[in-house]
Amino acid sequence: FAPNLKIIKMSGIRTFTMLKPDAVEKGHVGAILEQIASAGFRIVAMKLTQMTQTDAETFYAVHKERPFFGELVEYMTRGPIVAAILEKENAVEDFRTLIGATNPEDAAEGTIRKLYAASIGENAVHGSDSDENAQIEGAFHFAGREMF
Ligand code: UDP
Repeated sequence: FAPNLKIIKMSGIRTFTMLKPDAVEKGHVGAILEQIASAGFRIVAMKLTQMTQTDAETFYAVHKERPFFGELVEYMTRGPIVAAILEKENAVEDFRTLIGATNPEDAAEGTIRKLYAASIGENAVHGSDSDENAQIEGAFHFAGREMF
């Protein structure tokens, strides 16, 4: 029995997101979820959760040598996040378009980061950058039985 097999086979139509602590603190969860749903994404899994220091260090391990790593871990652990798996054709790319550039100053008008992000660090939302990472990140936060 391998519940995650389903995800591997469906690669290409799922992505993983987090509404980060700043978005939750500012009360933007409802508006952001509305924008995500209006763009055609279906929620496959979702929860309010808080990352531990080890969680954040593991999730962002690829950035561990970067100068912003310490601040990133502190930010991502300071309060609850909304973690979700989303489904749509071309999910990873379309979701990256919907959220906009990492730095809100560079993000296109109307994107989630343009609307809700304060800075390149506190940028409101995460979106996986590949099908492989979408699968890894979704499995990091959700058990197979939490995916619908
Ligand atoms: N980040 C930061 N400073 C930077 C670049 C990134 O604090 O100069 C943070 C920011 O929260 C970003 C996360 O680290 O979302 C991951 O960075 P990445 O380059 O993977 O950007 P993303 O894929 O989230 O757009």
